Amino acid sequence: MAQGTLFIVSAPSGAGKSSLIQALLKTQPLYDTQVSVSHTTRNIRPGEVHGEHYHFVTKEEFTAMIAENAFFEHAQVFGNYYGTSRHAIEQVLATGVDVFLDIDWQGAQQVRQQMPGARSIFILPPSQDELDRRLRGRGQDDGDVIASRMAKAVDEMSHYAEYDYLIVNDDFDLALSDLKTIIRAERLRMHRQKSRHSALISKLLAD
Ligand code: GDP
Ligand code: ADP
Ligand code: 5GP
Repeated sequence: MAQGTLFIVSAPSGAGKSSLIQALLKTQPLYDTQVSVSHTTRNIRPGEVHGEHYHFVTKEEFTAMIAENAFFEHAQVFGNYYGTSRHAIEQVLATGVDVFLDIDWQGAQQVRQQMPGARSIFILPPSQDELDRRLRGRGQDDGDVIASRMAKAVDEMSHYAEYDYLIVNDDFDLALSDLKTIIRAERLRMHRQKSRHSALISKLLAD
């Protein structure tokens, strides 16, 4: 069986990457597509579930995991630590499942170096005003947290050209359809199709 593809998704906070990934997962069976659950030291938001949105850990626990080489990648974002554990992706990819990483540009650079077959997607908002509206509309962060995320948005967006694909999340359904198209195209690539259809291909090529 071919390895699953690792999809990296990055965007400035509030551009809609979590909403897009969650909507995508609803349309795909678990044996095709999963999202990696990161570890973070940031505070849990109302409505977030430990182990589902993130594994919420203390700074001490996070530092101990770094020392144990437990992270595939990790970075400091908005003053908190975030990381993808090896455990969250390696066994899953080996079973042929595609795995999504919702990570920042620093993590994306580390993943590309270690896994050149990973595909990366950058999501842009339609304007700065709309990004600001979405961050406020989500209503889950304090005013100063929102201000610091807006201030970092241009910095995050300046990395867009390092990615394989670019989606502008203006109309949500259109952006979701773009995301599905990227995944579909990746699944049709020769190395994936060859192993998926190996029995058919042997039959077709038999004399
Ligand atoms: P949101 O994007 O506004 O919902 O805020 P989050 O707190 O979920 O994410 C904050 C930042 O950390 C974003 O840039 C994420 O892409 C990034 N991030 C989340 N998880 C990881 C991770 O496992 N590794 C890295 N490197 N970055 C992460
Ligand atoms: P991120 O994960 O990138 O920080 P979210 O997925 O949490 O962003 O989206 C931020 C807010 O914007 C959420 O309240 C979400 O419902 C809203 N949102 C996402 N995409 C759109 C869109 N295309 N049009 C309007 N609102 C959107
Ligand atoms: P939030 O705190 O709003 O959930 O996430 C803030 C940012 O952290 C987002 O841009 C998100 O993509 C990034 N992020 C979340 N998890 C990880 C991770 O495991 N690694 C990296 N590098 N970034 C992450």
